[in-house]
Amino acid sequence: MSQIVYTGGTFDLFHKGHLEFLRRCNELGKVTVALNTDEFIRSYKGSSPIMTFEEREAVLLGCRFVENVIANTGNEDSKPSISAVNPDLIVIGSDWARRDYYVLSKRVKVLVYGPPKCGKTALVGKLAGHYKLHWIDLEQGIKTLLNPAMLAPEHRKNVNVVNVPDHRLVPVGIDTVRSILKGGEQKICYAHGKTVCPLCKAKPDARYSSVNLNTFTDNDILVIDSLSQLTSSAMNRVIVKEINKPNGEEDKPTYNDYAMQGALLDEVLSRIQVLDLNIVCITHDIDSEKAESSAANIVPLAGTRNFSKTVAKYFDEVVYVNVLNKKHSAFSSTTSFNTILTGGRSGVKLDGLKDAELSLLPIFNKG
Ligand SMILES: [Zn+2]
Repeated sequence: MSQIVYTGGTFDLFHKGHLEFLRRCNELGKVTVALNTDEFIRSYKGSSPIMTFEEREAVLLGCRFVENVIANTGNEDSKPSISAVNPDLIVIGSDWARRDYYVLSKRVKVLVYGPPKCGKTALVGKLAGHYKLHWIDLEQGIKTLLNPAMLAPEHRKNVNVVNVPDHRLVPVGIDTVRSILKGGEQKICYAHGKTVCPLCKAKPDARYSSVNLNTFTDNDILVIDSLSQLTSSAMNRVIVKEINKPNGEEDKPTYNDYAMQGALLDEVLSRIQVLDLNIVCITHDIDSEKAESSAANIVPLAGTRNFSKTVAKYFDEVVYVNVLNKKHSAFSSTTSFNTILTGGRSGVKLDGLKDAELSLLPIFNKG
């Protein structure tokens, strides 16, 4: 059964770039294009497209990579069109799409999620070619990115690595991220990932990284890698006393512990939501959470599933493939997530997209 792939744009003066993009979309499934109306283009760009809606629609329908064309009736808000199409995948394409795709607020909060090793780090890392990335590395994932094969060496200077080694028995991540999100100059010791560290204070040669959200411009992006680790960190912080006791590893969190974990995460995510900054959070999909949790025997599926259900609302974009069913209901559908887990559907498709010309740049209104 073929997947439904949703994309959108203006597709004025159809050219080879359009064709190549649609060809790649078509490799993923049957493509429906939400085509911007003439009225919307006029109001958005201040001038009419060269080709009318009917002409642009006819060209697209003549393209063998396109199954269907609908009018993007929601204009800047793509939700009505996405809901109407009910796609398996939403694909946002290369450079032209940045101009033609629906309008986003100037600074954007993006949640990039997917199974492990699907190219999330590389995708976010690509932004270093255009932005200064402040990479809060909670799970030592940055080593992958700093590999020259992954990140162009000349872009290395655009990545400010903030090392926050978060461990189950020493869950510093949640508090350090909370401090960073409060703004102001935060110096984080490299060895422990703490903003206040008596150990490092006593050492004259201790290394620190620093981040100050107050100094962020349109060219800065805060990257939290990862939200899944932050979730664990929040829970471990709640039960840190219990799990550090002898045999404490056996303890299971109580209902109250989950409530406190939820409160911590809500605090962090609400802060992210209101900050007028570019922020990218990387996270695993719920399937890998489930596997990890059952292996670690600490976080039952329900807790993680509930967290996942609410997390999308804090972000402007849930990126950029692998969005299941309707965008806003994807996180409530356990069935869909189970499909991914058992079918491997997203893994394969994401691997396919990894080497494509897809990038996060179109959703950042660069320039
Ligand atoms: Zn320290």
